[in-house]
Amino acid sequence: MSHMDPIASPSLDARCAFHPETTATAACQRCGTFVCHHCLQWARDGRRYCGACAARALPPQASREDRFLANLVDSFVVFVPFIVGLVAMAITDELTGQEVLSIPLLLGGILGSLLLCGWQIYYAATNGQSLGKRWRHIRVVRMDGSHVSIARILLLRNLLPGILNQVLCVFGLADAICIFREDRRCIHDYLADTQVIQVPEHERTGTPSYRG
Ligand SMILES: [Zn+2]
Ligand SMILES: [Zn+2]
Repeated sequence: MSHMDPIASPSLDARCAFHPETTATAACQRCGTFVCHHCLQWARDGRRYCGACAARALPPQASREDRFLANLVDSFVVFVPFIVGLVAMAITDELTGQEVLSIPLLLGGILGSLLLCGWQIYYAATNGQSLGKRWRHIRVVRMDGSHVSIARILLLRNLLPGILNQVLCVFGLADAICIFREDRRCIHDYLADTQVIQVPEHERTGTPSYRG
């Protein structure tokens, strides 16, 4: 409201503050600096900023507690249907002694686990959130606040750290301990040039994607 609106039709002498040879297309909605379309950035709060203000407009880092709880949920949630299927199979076997009845239960469990894996990948690809991160209202973004690709999440945040942990046994521990650093970025965040931020309040309520 108190912010300057983007210029509707820039006057001839409105020039980009960073590219004086280029006509400005908008004014930063935070500091009012005129910027060209190369310098203009859409922040996740829906406003248009110059580069410096866009970087400052990033929501705060996720808390260590939220990251821990999200990781905890993510590390077991996909196994739940499989384990339920396994237990149901064992009980059915015990009670009826008929494998014909119990095998579909196990297959159902496996299918459920696969579906949850797919769900995790879908959410991570669309908005940088796993199920645990959705629950804690936190999200992975690039360091400049932009969307992080699913390839970056899978390869650099998950696969590479996993391989490094196989090679250097202490890697996983060292990686996790880094959460206690000032910037709360773990080694896998550095590998992938990512950070975990809090989802802004207005995105939590207004989004139809928050079904439960
Ligand atoms: Zn600005
Ligand atoms: Zn510019």
